Amino acid sequence: MKQIALYGKGGIGKSTTSANLSAALGESGLDILQIGCDPKHDSTRMLMHGEWIPTVLDLVRERGDAGIAVDEVVFRGYAGVRCVEAGGPEPGIGCAGRGIIATFQLLERLGALDGDVIVYDVLGDVVCGGFAMPMREGYAEEVYLVTSGELMALYAANNIAKAITRLSARSRKKCALAGVICNSKNMEGEEDLVREFASMINSEMVACIPRSRTVTLSELNRQTVIEYAPESEQAEVYRRLARTVVENDRTSIPTPLTIDELEDLARRFVQV
Ligand code: ATP
Ligand code: MG
Repeated sequence: MKQIALYGKGGIGKSTTSANLSAALGESGLDILQIGCDPKHDSTRMLMHGEWIPTVLDLVRERGDAGIAVDEVVFRGYAGVRCVEAGGPEPGIGCAGRGIIATFQLLERLGALDGDVIVYDVLGDVVCGGFAMPMREGYAEEVYLVTSGELMALYAANNIAKAITRLSARSRKKCALAGVICNSKNMEGEEDLVREFASMINSEMVACIPRSRTVTLSELNRQTVIEYAPESEQAEVYRRLARTVVENDRTSIPTPLTIDELEDLARRFVQV
């Protein structure tokens, strides 16, 4: 079983990439579990054709976790992908990471943390320990950083790389960097910049996903690209990513950059 996690700056495209990756993996016949670890609980929506599935934290809050059955928290979406949303507190109240902790505890107790690949769609700006929890406790064995060529996206990716380095030194649990995914903003030189960033932090760019109107159209039709536009070039990009993820056995301990190194790098690729 592979356990992969997508981390990256807010709004960078983690949920879109996760859902399309899961759909492509599901279509290839693999048993996939996608867990949305974001209080916004919108990770699996396109797999579920727009349905907001109940969150684990809401159910645990209402009923306690003793009487909850698997089919109350795990829902089958497109291509048989099993979908779970951790959920979180109302904005401004309580610890945002609590939903994640409740979800892992419940799924383990129910014996539902299984399959060929588990895809964790996490938050980028690791604002509290709750979001580092999938890494710290060894669930997120292979971390993929999702970034564009924008400085703030690279900055967030670099921060997550720092967290991986720190956690892998402290904990005996498995957690390593498996690659960098460029989710393009169509900037000039972007692909080369992200490839160089990946190499400088001791990793590799495993995919560069073009910015595409097909993604927007699919989202408006409440479907993944894989389902809405199966013949499109964009669907092929996600299928290639799925094959890469399955075959990838190269992980590393990252060597994060200083802010000066990061800015120098960005300056080299962006004409100023
Ligand atoms: P959050 O941190 O808020 O959870 P996220 O990283 O999960 O955000 P998404 O919700 O996947 O980001 O994407 C944000 C928006 O960008 C969405 O409207 C999505 O359709 C769009 N988007 C993502 N990737 C692409 C792409 N390759 N081409 C066009 N639009 C994209
Ligand atoms: Mg998201």
